[in-house]
Amino acid sequence: MSSAQPETWLTPTSQGLYCAPGDFFIDPARPVERAVITHGHGDHARPANRHVLATPATLAIMQSRMGEEAGGTLQPLAYGETLRLGDVTLRLVPAGHVLGSAQVVLEHGGSRIVVSGDYKRRPDPTCAPFEPQRCDVFVTEATFGLPVFRHPPDEQEIGKLLHSVRLFPERCHVVGVYALGKCQRVLALLRRQGYAEPVYLHGALLPLCALYEQQGVALGPVRPATGAPRDELRGRVVLAPPGAVADLWSRRLPDPVVSIASGWMRVKQRAKASGVELPLVISDHADWDELLATFDDVAAPEIWVTHGNEEAVVRQATLQGLKARALSLRGFEDEAE
Ligand SMILES: [Zn+2]
Ligand SMILES: [Zn+2]
Repeated sequence: MSSAQPETWLTPTSQGLYCAPGDFFIDPARPVERAVITHGHGDHARPANRHVLATPATLAIMQSRMGEEAGGTLQPLAYGETLRLGDVTLRLVPAGHVLGSAQVVLEHGGSRIVVSGDYKRRPDPTCAPFEPQRCDVFVTEATFGLPVFRHPPDEQEIGKLLHSVRLFPERCHVVGVYALGKCQRVLALLRRQGYAEPVYLHGALLPLCALYEQQGVALGPVRPATGAPRDELRGRVVLAPPGAVADLWSRRLPDPVVSIASGWMRVKQRAKASGVELPLVISDHADWDELLATFDDVAAPEIWVTHGNEEAVVRQATLQGLKARALSLRGFEDEAE
C-alpha cells in the first residue's frame, strides 16, 4: 500500500495549517470550528475558536489570558496520550518552548508529520524538554533561522546580570521579559544561580507567574513592583514587559540599568537602538545550530518552514539534501519573544 502524500492532507490556508482528514486547524490565525493549539503565545493561541484541543497547561494559560474567549469547549490532552480525530491519529509531545508547549504528531495513511510549533533544545527549568520524534515531514519555525543567531549559554547571560547587580548596588536593574515563558525562565535561572532575594514584578507579569507556581514551577520570592517605595528598589532586580521597560513606567525606578532578555539582543544595533544598557541573549526559540541539530534528530526527509527566516532555512535544508518548502503562513510575522 502506498502512503498518503503529506502535502495532500496537511495544507497551509489563509486561516492556518489545515488537516483535512481530521477536519481541524493547528494554531489558526482566525476563529475556526476545531483548533489544535501548540502553546499559549498570542500568535499561536488566538481567542474564540469553537473547540480547542491543547495540553492542560496550555488551556490553563489560555483561560488566564483570555477568560471566556479561550474557546467554546476546551479539551485537554496530556503529553503522550493518543487521540483519534476523524481519519488521523494525534499525539502531543513536549516542545521545550514554554510551559505546556507541544509538538503535534500526526499520523495518516502511513505517513507521520510533526508540527513543532515553537521550540528550543537547551534545558529550561520551567518546562518539559523537547522530545525529537522521527517523522516523514518536520514542520519547523525559523524565528532565528540565520547563521548569525547563536545563543550563548544561559548561565553566562544570567551571570552578566548578577555581576552588574553586585557592581551597582545603588541602581535598580530592570529586565524586559515576555510575560509567558521568558519571565518565569529568567526567575528560575536566577534561582539556579543562587539568587535568593525577592524579585520585583510589573503587574502584567503577576498572573502567569502565579499560574506557573500552581502548575508546580517554583519561582522563589516575588513582589509587586508597583507600590514599592523607590528606595526599596535600589540594588534589586525588576522584571517588566519590554514595552514597559521602554516607556515611562521604568522612569520611576531609581537610576535603572535597562536590560532586555531576548534572542534579538544578539543583534547589537537592535539593543543599542532600544536604549538597552545590558542586553541578555536568552531565547525560547531554537538558534541556528539547534534548528540544524533537530533536523538530524528527527531524520525527516522533508522540512516545511514557517515564521521567521523561512528562505534561509529552506536553503540550508536543501543544501543538506533534504526536501524543503516555505509555508508562508500568515499571522506570525512579528514574533515577540
Ligand atoms: Zn511561542
Ligand atoms: Zn511562534
